[in-house]
Amino acid sequence: MENKGVMILAEVTDGKLAPITRELLGVGRKLANDLGEELSVIIAGSGAVNTAAKVAAGVTDKVYAADTPPLKDYSNEAYVEVLEKVCKSTHPRIVLMGHTTIGRDLAPRAAFRLGTAAVTDCIALDIDDMNKQLLMTKPVYGGNALAIFTMETFPQIATIRVKSMTMQAVESTGKGEIINIAAELDPAAIKTTVLKKVVMEDEGVKLEDAAIIVTGGRGIGGPEGFKQLEELAKLLNGTVGASRPACDNGWVKDTMQIGLTGKIVSPDVYVAVAVSGTTQHMAGCSGARNIIAINKDPEANIFTEARFGVVGDWKKVLPGFEAEVKKLMGK
Ligand SMILES: Cc1cc2nc3c(=O)[nH]c(=O)nc-3n(C[C@H](O)[C@H](O)[C@H](O)COP(=O)(O)OP(=O)(O)OC[C@H]3O[C@@H](n4cnc5c(N)ncnc54)[C@H](O)[C@@H]3O)c2cc1C
Repeated sequence: MENKGVMILAEVTDGKLAPITRELLGVGRKLANDLGEELSVIIAGSGAVNTAAKVAAGVTDKVYAADTPPLKDYSNEAYVEVLEKVCKSTHPRIVLMGHTTIGRDLAPRAAFRLGTAAVTDCIALDIDDMNKQLLMTKPVYGGNALAIFTMETFPQIATIRVKSMTMQAVESTGKGEIINIAAELDPAAIKTTVLKKVVMEDEGVKLEDAAIIVTGGRGIGGPEGFKQLEELAKLLNGTVGASRPACDNGWVKDTMQIGLTGKIVSPDVYVAVAVSGTTQHMAGCSGARNIIAINKDPEANIFTEARFGVVGDWKKVLPGFEAEVKKLMGK
């Protein structure tokens, strides 16, 4: 049977479609239009599925909704069952997920189950006009190069980096059909149980959502210096990030780490203060639209990545920078 259509795995937070799902709906619609095929969504969960399904139905052609208690909390075993069932009965050409905790975990396993492959952490997707293959672009070598992948097996599965694609207004179809899936999950197949959820207390803007990030590196020298970065971030209505050594030294929380083994961010402005700009760090921030670097070493790699740079001791540069920002913002 020929594989057709673009399918999105939705993520639901507090009963609403998560921002990454709205991003995927935009890119999914574009791909579906390019192919002249349908856009559909899978929503799995317990209780909160209905409301989200109705919203998704307004902007897609079909919504596959699986609503059952074993899907209340995300578990790889349960979600992969649902995804496999829907894909085996509907034969989508493309399956898109966010490059989130869920997508990173689920995509490879789903690909194995369906006898296909997955390309993770994509920042651009296109359709090859010649053969309708999905072209998936992702950063490689710590963000120093971009590679374009495709695959000949179906469905073509891709996870998409959060905020890598401009949020597009999704046209209303007003005709999306909601198809309820009887998930019939075998409890014995679900080997993990969520015992407790600990909500991370984020103060202010979340790193992943921030339009402006002020990041400190090892050269900040200690927790005191980070207080100054916080002041600047607050002024800019942004948030503070850190390189790995700053986290490993216990100057700031581990959850603030940006990079290969930390968070991947794509802000409009990324102010890197006393950060050398190693490939492992840049892997987390190469998607920033503008990088401003402050570093005392003119040879620091961060200057090859930055749009604007100041060579100097951050302790001397930052007060003047902050004063200028205040002036420009009329504060
Ligand atoms: C598998 C693996 C995964 C990793 N994952 C990550 C990751 O996710 N994120 C990450 O950040 N790192 C990661 N690392 C570590 C990475 O290799 C680097 O060690 C780290 O990024 C360096 O952080 P830094 O730039 O803060 O420190 P450094 O490289 O030590 O740079 C400090 C910079 O501060 C400047 N400086 C010092 N004093 C001042 C001053 N007074 N004023 C101005 N500038 C000053 C120096 O010139 C220097 O450029 C990983 C490493 C490995 C092996």
